[in-house]
Amino acid sequence: MVGELNPPAKSCGACGLCRKLMGVTALDKPAGRWRRHFSRAGGCAVYETRPDDCGVFNCLWLLTDALGPERKPTAAGFVLHSEQGAARLIVESDPARPHDWRREPYQSTLRRWAAAPGMEVLVFAGRRGVRPGAVDADVRRG
Ligand code: SF4
Repeated sequence: MVGELNPPAKSCGACGLCRKLMGVTALDKPAGRWRRHFSRAGGCAVYETRPDDCGVFNCLWLLTDALGPERKPTAAGFVLHSEQGAARLIVESDPARPHDWRREPYQSTLRRWAAAPGMEVLVFAGRRGVRPGAVDADVRRG
């Protein structure tokens, strides 16, 4: 019966948004620009010889079963990751879609997480960002 099948594990597929939004020092690749060696159709052309600090990045959508397909970075327009032992949630917005986090259901969810005790949410589009709260605060990446 179809209902007994396990759903397929999540995969990046043709997403690749973290390859655009995260900087890679060893490749002299700034945040917010596509890697020269990456294409969504073909993936990383230098995967076998990639530098160590390319690392293996897994966004929170990929790691969290509870985040459904509507929150996949290609759909949402941002990549989620965490810092400080998950006490700080970083929302890396695609600079081409800097306000997508304000769409629903994203904004309500992010504001609810930001209001949780001991939790901080920072939404960035490049170096500029906002800390959602009762009154949103402007922040800049150091
Ligand atoms: S942003 Fe997430 S889903 Fe997209 S390529 Fe990176 S790890 Fe995979």
